[in-house]
Amino acid sequence: MDAVQRKECGRYVAELFAPEDEVLAELRREISAQDMPEIYVDREEGRLLQVLLQAVGARRVIELGTLGGYSAIWMARALAPDGQLITIEREAERAEVARRFLDRAGLSDRVEVRVGEALELLPDLANEGPFDAIFIDADKKSYPVYLDWALANLREGGLVIGDNAFKGGAVLDTNTDDPGTRGIQEFNRRLAGDPRLTSVIVPTRDGVAIAVVKRS
Ligand code: MG
Repeated sequence: MDAVQRKECGRYVAELFAPEDEVLAELRREISAQDMPEIYVDREEGRLLQVLLQAVGARRVIELGTLGGYSAIWMARALAPDGQLITIEREAERAEVARRFLDRAGLSDRVEVRVGEALELLPDLANEGPFDAIFIDADKKSYPVYLDWALANLREGGLVIGDNAFKGGAVLDTNTDDPGTRGIQEFNRRLAGDPRLTSVIVPTRDGVAIAVVKRS
């Protein structure tokens, strides 16, 4: 398969499995209009998140890096009826957009947007665990720290999901000194080598790393 066909197949998956409703489409327009970075997940990745969360019967989920709430809407729709997603966003304006669209999607009752630095909020959040899954999509430098937190606060059979596992292809550069790339490289290496985890990277556009915490 050549690169064009591969891209067409990505579109095929998106159209067949991951149609977007009006709320999600409008949120993307809002993100563009507000000059927020257009780095939300692809809709087929949104669908992948739903498949994963439902596979583990997720009720308690953490997201690091809300942005406008695009991935939060996908995930919240896959939670068990009494489920809760806590999503952390560093920038208050972005969190406000996310809250507005979560409300419009009818998901405010099951999603809580917390504003602050993930590294500062996570220690307290440990008191609210254990959790069924964590979706890591925040600053890339800190991915290894987020992984430590996940391993301490996920239940057995829980999921670590990391976005941008290819870092736009930069992970292939073994000599890089970019802190974000090094963070992702270490995260991927640890997922691959940690005996407590069964892991892989699904090669979506920028890669989604997935790890299951083994049952003892
Ligand atoms: Mg991302």
